[in-house]
Amino acid sequence: MIRLKNAKQIEGIRESCKLLAAMFGEIRPLVVPGVETRELDIWARDWIRKAGGRPAILGYGDRSNPFPGALCISLNEEVIHGIPSRRKIAAGDLVSIDSGIDLAGFISDKSETFEAGRVSEAAAALNTATRECLYKGIAAVQPGARLHQIARAVQSHAVSRGYGVVEHYCGHGVGFDVHEDPQVPNVPQGPNPRMMNGLVIAIEPMINLGTGDVELLEDGWTVVTADRRLSAHWEHTVAVFRDHAEILTL
Ligand code: MG
Repeated sequence: MIRLKNAKQIEGIRESCKLLAAMFGEIRPLVVPGVETRELDIWARDWIRKAGGRPAILGYGDRSNPFPGALCISLNEEVIHGIPSRRKIAAGDLVSIDSGIDLAGFISDKSETFEAGRVSEAAAALNTATRECLYKGIAAVQPGARLHQIARAVQSHAVSRGYGVVEHYCGHGVGFDVHEDPQVPNVPQGPNPRMMNGLVIAIEPMINLGTGDVELLEDGWTVVTADRRLSAHWEHTVAVFRDHAEILTL
């Protein structure tokens, strides 16, 4: 069931999203070669708590295997849901960071792929195209239009560059919970509701250098490309109003 948000609720989500965007601005210079991914996670937990929020994804998921970080940090062939660890970031890595904040019960969601040191031309091009896919998807958000319009925009841009689109995972409604209806796919598939006033969604293309096929690792979280080639991931939380859309996580 899609839970539409009223103006006051969107204001709460907007505050949460602004905070999350500020955190991304501050973490950017910390994503450098030699840093352990868990150091970034510890930094983020502390930052979020000091700002009066709670890491929304810490402890998320099944009780038998809750997510153990405030950040998902996915390197190179890792697509999403990478677990912070003692692994050190190396020069040339693509570092996808995904996070959310619970601020007074309002949830935000955003991700960015950072380039650690100097990355290969292929990695940089993939990263640029993935960010472009996100903005093409956002440009397709129109009150009254159907959700698959976003997917078509994302997919056509990725395919035009020869990249694979991850179909197995997708964006989603957000705001009251980390994952809500509707699903927001990156290729046209599944339910295709209209975008209504009060809809808040996370749009998050996951684009691969090779095919869109993915695998889940044994840790139960980390999703990697099936061919182990590079992947990038960009995400914004977007609100739909009567006559326009607004990126909340800028
Ligand atoms: Mg996210």
